[in-house]
Amino acid sequence: MPRIAYVNGRYRPLRDQAVPVEDRGYQFADGVYEVVKVLNGAPRDLGRHLARLDRSLAALQIRPPMARGALVQVLKETLRQNGLPTALLYIQVSRGTAPRNHVFPRRSRPSLVVTVRRPSFPSVREREQGVKVITLPDLRWGRCDIKSISLLANVLARQEAAAAGCREAWLCERDGTVAEGSASNAYIFDRAGRLVTHPLGERILGGVTRSVILELARADGMQVDERPFSLEEARAAPEAALSSTSSLLLPVVAIDGHPVGAGRPGPGVRRLMGLYDAWLAGPEDSGKGRPEHGRDEVSVELAS
Ligand code: PLP
Repeated sequence: MPRIAYVNGRYRPLRDQAVPVEDRGYQFADGVYEVVKVLNGAPRDLGRHLARLDRSLAALQIRPPMARGALVQVLKETLRQNGLPTALLYIQVSRGTAPRNHVFPRRSRPSLVVTVRRPSFPSVREREQGVKVITLPDLRWGRCDIKSISLLANVLARQEAAAAGCREAWLCERDGTVAEGSASNAYIFDRAGRLVTHPLGERILGGVTRSVILELARADGMQVDERPFSLEEARAAPEAALSSTSSLLLPVVAIDGHPVGAGRPGPGVRRLMGLYDAWLAGPEDSGKGRPEHGRDEVSVELAS
């Protein structure tokens, strides 16, 4: 079955789809995106992802390409046409096509692209033995809370990690703070057993997985500290982890070649992975977005 993509009103095989050269996403990376996990044919946390999409669009003054209900129908139809029960769903919105000019066009229709691909979730080995990260200076722009398609600094960091045989690059601020990974959020357990992760704000993307994990940890009685932590603290921490929609939650067992704790997944991260796995195996949540950054809740009709 060929992969089917939705591009501005048309469902067609991915290889036959195209966007115009003057699409501002191509010219200026003037757009935003979302990646949604699909399990058993249903998107997980769609409410949270769509709330973040709205927030990213509003931050860049891009009009939503269509009403929420219509967008959900497009997502469902794209999923149906691809027939993959386990998948990653990509939603990309650019400001649209207009003659090249840095200034926003007076009139342009936002461009919407929806694609579906097979996920490459972490292997059993990565989950059981953990993964390694390197650290790099954070070269990104000042609004990392917007899920922008401008990913060049992230791409370069991830490439450097891959070349070093590591799963991820943790991006460090000038003051030595670990912000997050190139495509994931970063955590440590401190010596008191508290789960520590960078607070929301303009230095990190408010991960949907992060929000679920923090809720699960708190509901389990774990102490959660949303505060900056330094690279020095991370290297001395007993445990570390990363999370994202496609990486799920993974133990980090080495930072820049130095083992974290005993160099294998510790009890805190293993407990959290168990909680997250159980949550994933459970029913889709109520469809209520509990978006970060204080936006209103939104509900999403998922029933097919
Ligand atoms: N931080 C960055 C920079 C990311 O690109 C991502 C995901 O792509 C995340 C964090 C994790 O976000 P989520 O859990 O919503 O996938």
